Amino acid sequence: MTKAYSFELFPPKTEKGMTNLQATVTELQTRNPAFFSCTYGAGGSTQNNTFATVDWLREQSIDTAPHLTCIGNSVTETLEILQRYVDQGINRVVALRGDRPSGTGLIDSELTHANDLVALIREHFNDHFHIEVAAYPEMHPQAANFAADLNNFKRKVDAGANSAITQYFYNVDAYKRFVDETSAMGIEIPIVPGIMPITNYSNLKRFSDACGAEIPRWIAKRLESYLDDVDSIRAFGEEVVTQLCAELLEQGAPGLHFYTMNQTAPTLALWDNLGL
Ligand code: FAD
Repeated sequence: MTKAYSFELFPPKTEKGMTNLQATVTELQTRNPAFFSCTYGAGGSTQNNTFATVDWLREQSIDTAPHLTCIGNSVTETLEILQRYVDQGINRVVALRGDRPSGTGLIDSELTHANDLVALIREHFNDHFHIEVAAYPEMHPQAANFAADLNNFKRKVDAGANSAITQYFYNVDAYKRFVDETSAMGIEIPIVPGIMPITNYSNLKRFSDACGAEIPRWIAKRLESYLDDVDSIRAFGEEVVTQLCAELLEQGAPGLHFYTMNQTAPTLALWDNLGL
């Protein structure tokens, strides 16, 4: 099976950010990815930024997979957004629950989990969309335990997900085991590793603590020791993540999904090192 490579973007909030994103996409597009995905701020005020980014991508005729979260949006709003994407010729979405924006307290939602969103999409749009869902090789931080999280992952697949993209991780074994366990549960959809380049330790640490991704001690200790030496952080990060990707591909991963953070260089360095 040919491996699929994709790039994730986040919607910029400023004109300068948009100009930067457009340059990034133009350069990454030369590598012919399967698609670009664009994140969506759950229940927040950044949704129009996602629409603006998706609009621009579609104007360039780029295969686009908007992310869509279900908490904080009504069913009616969710269906309107999906219809908008149908009208734009989009046939792939990343269906997520999302996280409550900090400080907003509890949001009442008609759809409470990603499997509800997947089911809604299938109910209203049949097979129009290829539906991607999230997977957590190191367990979703709010899951009661690993078995429960695996069962909840299966709910999304049973509801009609076509493939999955993982949270980023730096432990190959966690991914391998996740794939083995889900396969033993009869899950056959491709589970594509999400790859986070390492370019900055403090941001990565903060983000990893929040989303439940582990930075292995041997990596963390080295990154810590570089302090503000950005070049050393990048060089070490590039070496570690290249090795991670190479092992994943060798072990049969169906592709890679790069969290580009709207930057070209870190992702392209990995791409070129891997000879993709
Ligand atoms: P779910 O699959 O609903 O799971 C959330 C939790 O609930 C898990 O602990 C699960 O075990 C449990 N659970 C699931 N279903 C049920 C059920 N039916 N009953 C009881 N418990 C259940 N966030 C954004 O805001 N915008 C984005 O664009 C975005 N993009 C992402 C892309 C990827 C590839 C990934 C991995 C994450 C992304 N996130 C994004 C973050 C994501 O929204 C959070 O991780 C969120 O906490 C969970 O979303 P989910 O779709 O995995 O939720």
